[in-house]
Amino acid sequence: MPSHSSRTPGDLMRYDVIIAGGGPVGLACAISLGRDGRKVCVVERSPAHVLADPPFDGREIALTHHASEWLKSVGAWDEIPAGNICPMYTARIETGKSGSPPLLFDAPTAGPDALGYMVANHLIRRGLYRVALRTPGVDIRAGEGIASSWHDTRSAGVVLANEERIEADLLVAADGRFSRLRAEAGIGAIVHDFQRSIMVCRLRHPEPHANTALQWFDEGQTIALLPVAPDDRPGSCSSLVLTLEPDEIARLKALDGKAFSEDITARTQGRMGQMTLESARCVYPLKAVYAHRFQAPRLALIGDAAVGMHPITAHGFNLGLRGQEVLARAIANGAGDAGDPSVLSRFERTHRRATAPLFAATNAIATVYTRDEPPFLMARRAGLAVANRLLPFKTAVTNMLMDRHG
Ligand SMILES: Cc1cc2nc3c(=O)[nH]c(=O)nc-3n(C[C@H](O)[C@H](O)[C@H](O)COP(=O)(O)OP(=O)(O)OC[C@H]3O[C@@H](n4cnc5c(N)ncnc54)[C@H](O)[C@@H]3O)c2cc1C
Repeated sequence: MPSHSSRTPGDLMRYDVIIAGGGPVGLACAISLGRDGRKVCVVERSPAHVLADPPFDGREIALTHHASEWLKSVGAWDEIPAGNICPMYTARIETGKSGSPPLLFDAPTAGPDALGYMVANHLIRRGLYRVALRTPGVDIRAGEGIASSWHDTRSAGVVLANEERIEADLLVAADGRFSRLRAEAGIGAIVHDFQRSIMVCRLRHPEPHANTALQWFDEGQTIALLPVAPDDRPGSCSSLVLTLEPDEIARLKALDGKAFSEDITARTQGRMGQMTLESARCVYPLKAVYAHRFQAPRLALIGDAAVGMHPITAHGFNLGLRGQEVLARAIANGAGDAGDPSVLSRFERTHRRATAPLFAATNAIATVYTRDEPPFLMARRAGLAVANRLLPFKTAVTNMLMDRHG
């Protein structure tokens, strides 16, 4: 049976589970465990006012149906203003300069009416924080640094920067793709450095986006234009995801708004008309990470700390949500001790099976589609032409985008 948190002499707090990192996946995990009657402590270094109203970070998350259903089931979907949710009906993939036929994935006419939903990351984080705050059993220690942590066969815990000790049956590392807890546990990771940076920002344009996500593997640059929900202003708004060498991204970030808008209008060959920058430009290094193990004694890795995906297939957060569900289920089906080795191995087995093939496939796609040497160019032109004629392939990819299996 779940135990309870309690204060003991020497200010030692005890929980069932401590989650290091109050990002979207850490908060989702706290909600799942709290709903199962567990006592959970989330330790997050950002202050509470940032969690309550996170700043725009450029990321527009393509949520699968499974992810949106999970968010609905816990009440987080209702915390996202409906006008900020943009259904995506078509995914359009192009390669090369222009003129070659695109590969199109359309939402099926029967069943759910969209391939998925685009929602800004900061709104997902805000929604999850609001739900976590009202979930019984969940304590959030915001603005707290972790000075040190431990986990062994008997117990796990953290010491905060203010020297307070918090102990639990299980420590969960949800501290992002460059996870300190993972490194301190001596767990290595496959790190695929694409030697590129990604810039993300919103631009307004006169041509409608028609709820289509464009992924364009041009020679020398990769551009995605993702649909943003309409507002009451003229034109449409899209999220630009631009992948280039880090120096070029730094140069573009230093341009003033007008020069940047001109540059993007030219890069997109005016297909949406004149582009106008209307948000901050956020830059991320392009590194994919896969932890060698997802567990150690009384330690579990979730979210990007376990699997940090290349964003090209839009699966990072979606898989992170899956992972925390798998962990919560393994704990619920266990004998009571959240850190029991059998619980952790069940979690690891299931989550590796779900993520390893996708991680490898995503890296292969990202490599073939972002390198410009002649064999890669030929492979992607041929690949797109063949894929366009293969109905079973297109159906399988559509199902993967929608996450309709499982
Ligand atoms: C440009 C871009 C586009 C993306 N698009 C998509 C998409 O379309 N679909 C999709 O599914 N995914 C997408 N992703 C991936 C998605 O954003 C991540 O998978 C997701 O944010 C991972 O959440 P997380 O909670 O595991 O980690 P993070 O979001 O990195 O959160 C980690 C948290 O831990 C905290 N933390 C770190 N260290 C400590 C510490 N020592 N003590 C306390 N707190 C700590 C941090 O402050 C942070 O709040 C995209 C990513 C990028 C960069």
